[in-house]
Amino acid sequence: MSYKFVGNVIISGIIECMTGLHIGATDEAYQIGGMDNPVIKDPLTGYPYIPGSSLKGKLRTIMEWAKDKIDTGKPGGIHECLDKNCPVCRIFGTGADNSNKRKTGPTRILVRDSFPTEKTIKKFDILKEQKGVAAEIKTEVNINRITSKPLSGPRSLERVPKESEFNFEIIYSVYDIDDKGSVDVENLKDLITVLKLMEESALGGGGSRGAGRIKFKLHKEVEIKQVADYEKPHVPCEKTETKDLQSIKAEDIVKTIKAKLNIN
Ligand SMILES: [Zn+2]
Repeated sequence: MSYKFVGNVIISGIIECMTGLHIGATDEAYQIGGMDNPVIKDPLTGYPYIPGSSLKGKLRTIMEWAKDKIDTGKPGGIHECLDKNCPVCRIFGTGADNSNKRKTGPTRILVRDSFPTEKTIKKFDILKEQKGVAAEIKTEVNINRITSKPLSGPRSLERVPKESEFNFEIIYSVYDIDDKGSVDVENLKDLITVLKLMEESALGGGGSRGAGRIKFKLHKEVEIKQVADYEKPHVPCEKTETKDLQSIKAEDIVKTIKAKLNIN
């Protein structure tokens, strides 16, 4: 068996929040006198962002369900297997031990943290000035079913306001494992389907209560780079125009990638 790096496919664009978005901060980020339920923010700027781990985790979960891979025998139903052609394990990776046993090479996907666009930063600055925080504060109450009065004091949580936009980037690496890279390129179709399913799911908390609906707008050109391309000075491709993910045909992207990487 031989392993060979074939190239990187760079899928980038904008994530638009169609509703408020709540990706909770960790305990360390809690501040005295602060919110009970803050959203995660970049400590340097105070602006909310979308951690790559949150998006990657959600995409993996969606793929596990879509590919009927939920493992009811394991805690949390998390899937991990030794099948070298399993798209979930191949794309999203497995623990180091399993990865050695499966001999399928490294995790194919890398999801960058998504930071706000210039336009959204301006909106965050206004919020910061008006409310002291770059987020909306949402209040939720639990209602007494008989009296219709609130059961307990309202609970407030921060959300990234709807229409906020974040720059996102996913790097998908193609490896030749005695297959010229064809398996990885074909699996990319599944990943695009999963991104589409993500739009009808929810990112972060409070999904069943209206939060977390996002939309992907992809840059028109999917960048495909081989080692030789990195040896030359980089000419960034046009990244102004975007198109809705749902209008994209995965088959077309795969065809372009195969042509560029010489895969039949
Ligand atoms: Zn698997």
